[in-house]
Amino acid sequence: MDILAFGVQADERPLIEKAFEGKHDVRCLDVFLNEDTVPIAAGYEAISTSVNADLSRSVLQTLAVGGTQLIAQRSTGFNNIDLDVAERLGLTVARVSYYSPYSVAEFAWTLAMAVNRRIVRASNRTRDFDFRLDGLMGRDLRGRTVGVLGTGKIGEAFTRIAHGFGMNLLGWDVAENPACVELGMKYVEKDELLASADVVSLHVPLLPSTHHVIDRAALRRMKDDAILVNSSRGGLVDTEALVGELRAGRLAGVGLDVYEAEAGLFFLDKSLEVVSDDTLARLMTFPNVVVTSHQAYYTEEAVGQIVAATVENVAAYVAGRRTGNVLVPRVPSGGGQG
Ligand code: NAD
Repeated sequence: MDILAFGVQADERPLIEKAFEGKHDVRCLDVFLNEDTVPIAAGYEAISTSVNADLSRSVLQTLAVGGTQLIAQRSTGFNNIDLDVAERLGLTVARVSYYSPYSVAEFAWTLAMAVNRRIVRASNRTRDFDFRLDGLMGRDLRGRTVGVLGTGKIGEAFTRIAHGFGMNLLGWDVAENPACVELGMKYVEKDELLASADVVSLHVPLLPSTHHVIDRAALRRMKDDAILVNSSRGGLVDTEALVGELRAGRLAGVGLDVYEAEAGLFFLDKSLEVVSDDTLARLMTFPNVVVTSHQAYYTEEAVGQIVAATVENVAAYVAGRRTGNVLVPRVPSGGGQG
């Protein structure tokens, strides 16, 4: 079978080509799937996509007309895919439901610590041979409180690190995770978590029920000197509201690996262009904000597992085997979140 892989990073390409070698012919493209690029997929029975692919109605319709039957998404999150439309069109959609949660959890703490200990500013200073410490004072984490929104696989790994720091653990989730409870996590209402936490980290998926889970009201409930970290999905945070609160001098700092309007920006080199996104441009001006471009998952272990699972998703489709990674067609019970 011929497979067309969209949105392939340079480091990822040899891994994908090697993993499919001798099994299927794979063509890797660095461009992302969207309205403009979807014609390239005509004639490919299987395509593989990444987080910022546009798999909305019209793109899915064009894919179906062009003969595509399998979409193998190389991520856990699938908020970029209109599953109802995919199902109506008779497409099969698979994702990677598990890969190293440590990749994202460790990165979330990297962001929190970079903000807390002013690492970016310190590094810029020393490169300029300015060795003063003014303005670089951080805080010990031991004895402080972390609030974890979403205590699934990544939230649990994040909580284990917080436990290692000696922090008090607060959690918010629709279901308690016994492993987190065993570490001493106390599950509370979101408002209580926000009001008590020194570090708030987001690990829920982006769903209609979690869209802007951190809105203006939520931001105002947080301590003035709290740190907010989002390494899950940009749409969890109302960015306009965040900019407003930062402008008012609230929050100690923010670490963002995701941004709600990241599609068309993140993973791309825009350094020679005028950025038309005023919200992002304003966000970049705050000295206490660190932004990375959706790289939390980007470790050798996680990318290796994502590629291996994608090969397995294609093999299962060819063999007519249903696995836990299949989102569409849905199981009659309505499962599929995996
Ligand atoms: P998971 O399914 O193991 O955990 C998600 C948790 O959120 C579950 O415990 C679930 O009960 C909880 N949850 C779901 N809906 C909720 C709601 N409405 N209210 C409260 N809690 C709710 O998922 P995971 O593997 O831990 O991944 C979490 C998210 O991390 C993914 O959905 C994805 O968006 C994001 N992610 C980001 C990157 C990155 O590189 N930045 C990489 C992988 C995953």
